[in-house]
Formats: sequence, structure tokens, C-alpha cells
Amino acid sequence: MQKEKDKAKENFEEYRIDLRQKDAPKEFYNILGDIGQDLPKPIDDTGESFALLQKVLPKGVLELEFSDKDHIPIPEEIRDKFKMVNRPTPIIRARQLEAHFGNKVKIYMKMEGFTYVGSHKINSSIPQAYYAKADGAKFVTTETGAGQWGSAVALAASLFGLESKIFMVKVSYAGKPYRRYLMNMFGGEVHPSPSELTGFGRGILRKEPDSPGSLGMAITDAVEYAKEHGGKYVVGSVVNSDLMFKSIAGLEAKKQMESIGEDPDYVIGCVGGGSNYAGLAYPFLEEELKAGKIRRRYIAAGSAEIPKMTKGKYEYDYPDTGKVLPQLKMYTVGHDFVPPPIYAGGLRYHAVAPSLSLLMSKGIVEARDYDQNESFRYAKLYSKIEGYVPAPETSHSFPIIEEIAKKAGSKKPVVLMSFSGNGMLDLANYAEAFGFDAAQKGAGKQ
Ligand SMILES: *Cc1c(COP(=O)(O)O)cnc(C)c1O
Repeated sequence: MQKEKDKAKENFEEYRIDLRQKDAPKEFYNILGDIGQDLPKPIDDTGESFALLQKVLPKGVLELEFSDKDHIPIPEEIRDKFKMVNRPTPIIRARQLEAHFGNKVKIYMKMEGFTYVGSHKINSSIPQAYYAKADGAKFVTTETGAGQWGSAVALAASLFGLESKIFMVKVSYAGKPYRRYLMNMFGGEVHPSPSELTGFGRGILRKEPDSPGSLGMAITDAVEYAKEHGGKYVVGSVVNSDLMFKSIAGLEAKKQMESIGEDPDYVIGCVGGGSNYAGLAYPFLEEELKAGKIRRRYIAAGSAEIPKMTKGKYEYDYPDTGKVLPQLKMYTVGHDFVPPPIYAGGLRYHAVAPSLSLLMSKGIVEARDYDQNESFRYAKLYSKIEGYVPAPETSHSFPIIEEIAKKAGSKKPVVLMSFSGNGMLDLANYAEAFGFDAAQKGAGKQ
């Protein structure tokens, strides 16, 4: 009888797990002091890159970059802006996907696509815009690939009354206009990179006028422009401070999972530079690192076309093509690696954040790489059965669930995944990958 009741309860459980805005986390989590080993120090081999960073990064961000304090109070104004852009995001139980995997796993999605910009990237652009303003800046600069980070910066800057100058990788600028228009709607100013506005960009364009650009080049453009014109540069992934800001997602998720009496056995997500995954996973890792015993499994996936996760070397490398930034010890395929044109623009970065790399090297975080075809199959399936279109980047996490489901025993493992973004502005990419237009023509002929 009780069993039947439990079963009925299970069937009528809710899909969405909310967190009230008044219960939102009030501190960020910084993992650096808990890893039990210092992060290998950045190397300034030009003798100029530290000075450069001191000039272009907001003071508040620089301080956090080297802090090993575990809990960092979130200033009131940042918490207010988080609420404004739709945080806390809900967790959704993906019951149809569970059914697809034979009900062998419970699947919870932390829905970062529900923020107004459609991804987790607003979690860091808001704090950075806040610290840039506190530092007296009038504008911020940054780089963007597909435009997720750029749109998050454009909105955050406007919310704090700042201008934004966004250097967008040239192929994306030309080929993916919709996020560019979104940046424009949010008040951002967008320039193709390599850019005529910087000495670095002009140098590249002189040698190679048709350069398609790359994220590494766009970083150099954005840093140089901030330096020359007195703005502040904001960083979209990889660095410690950025990962700290992104922890808001995991801190919320912990409260949400606790509120329904669930504890994830697996925490999974996709990796561009690593902040999306770290943002969800680090707050869960905290208690385990502090207790000296890892009990959950942490699995992060990149793109097999840029196989830094599984084939990268753990060594010092430049975070940018222009080599103006200090070298960091990271899993990397090389700062001059030219990635093939994949649709998950946010995964094209050549290296993994230093703290995540360190956790990978210690075996605490497991690495996977999946190719586009394998990942996109799930993007389409998820859209069809769950009714929500994932970003191409996000879809690279689904094969991890398949792996877990295949190995699952009688006790259903609980999986928590970072659903890093929404794919509504990536439909053209999906259309190309799946050949929707050709299929449509074929249908017309019949
Ligand atoms: C940027 C992006 C990623 C990758 O994020 P990192 O923090 O660089 O690892 C993943 N998903 C979406 C939707 C993104 O926009």
C-alpha cells in the first residue's frame, strides 16, 4: 500500500524545482583554498603581462583573482541584478529523457538557458561590470565567438550604465548576425576581429586580409583596446575570478536539490574554457574537498574537434594567440591550434581553466570529448521529447548521461547536468548540420 502511494507520488512529482529570489545565495564560492595544493603560478615571460592585467582588469576582480578565501560576500547590487535577469534559474527534471534511457537514471537539469541572455554567461558579466564601474570605467571591452559572452557583457554593461565594445571573431560576425543584433539591442557596440581599431588587429589584417579571426585574436584586440583607451577588460571564462562568479549556479542548485531531498551521484556539464562546468560542480565539491573524501563522480565533456579534455597536454600555455597574457598551466591543444569550424562556438577554446585542469590532473574530475554528430543527435531528441532547444554547446553533455545509463544498476543514479544555454539563436547551425533545407525541398517534390 505504502509502496503504491510512493509510486503515485513519484508519478505526480513536479517537473520544476524553484528557488525563491529571497533565498538566493549571498556568497560566491572560491575553490582555490580547498584543492589542497596551490595552483601553479602564472608565468610572465614578457615581463609586461602582469602590468598589463593590472591596468586593464577592474581592481575588485584582480583582488578576487588571487584570493584563497572560500566564501566571498556578493555585493547587494550584484544580487539585485541577478534577480532582474531571472535568477535563480529553475532545475527541471527531464522525465522524458529518463524514459528514453529506460528509466535507469534520474536526470536534473540546471537551466541556465532561462536567464534573459539565454546562458550562464550573465553570471560573470554582471559582477565584472559592477567592479568595472566601481573602478571608475566608462566602458568595458571583451571578445566573443558565437556571441553568447558578448551578449551577456552588452546587457550587464548597460544595466550598470556602461558602454561596451565587443570584438567578435570575424567569421561569426559575418555568418551569425543574430547574436550580434542581440548585442546591439542590449546597447553593445560590436566590431569584427581582427580589428582595424587596434595595432594588433591591423598587423594581422596587413598579412592576411581575409583572416577569419579566432577567439585568441579577439582577446588580444579587446585587451589592447582597453589599454589604449582607458576602459576595463572583462573575461568570459578560464580565470579564477570568473569561475568564482559562475559558482552562483551551483550554489543555487545545491539548495534546490536539498529542498527535494535529492543528492546528485554525478555532476556533469560541457567545457569551453571550463567556467560553465566549474560553476555547477565546485559548490558540490566543496564539502568533499574539505572532508578529504570525494564521493560523487564529476564528469566534464568537451568537443572532440578541439580535444583538449582527452588529448590536451597539461603544461604552461598562453591563454591568447597574441601572447600578451601570462602563461597558465592548463590542459591545452596549443594557443595556435586552429579549430575546425564547429557549430558549438562556445567550445572552441584551446585550453581548460587552471583550477579545473588541476582537478583533472588529480583524477577528481573525469574528462570526455564528444564529436558534433554524436552530441547533436541528442539536441534534436531533447527538443522533440522535452520541448526545449539546447544550445549546441550544451548538447555535448548528453552522451555522458548515455554512458551513466548504460552502466546503471538497480539503484537509479541521480545526475545533475548544467544546461548551459538555450539554442533558439543557433537554429541556423542545427539546420545546416541536419540539412533541414534540403530535406524540405525533398518533401516538396513528393
Ligand atoms: C560559452 C558557453 C559554454 C562554454 O562555457 P565555458 O564556461 O567557457 O566552459 C557552454 N555552453 C554555452 C551555452 C555557452 O554559451
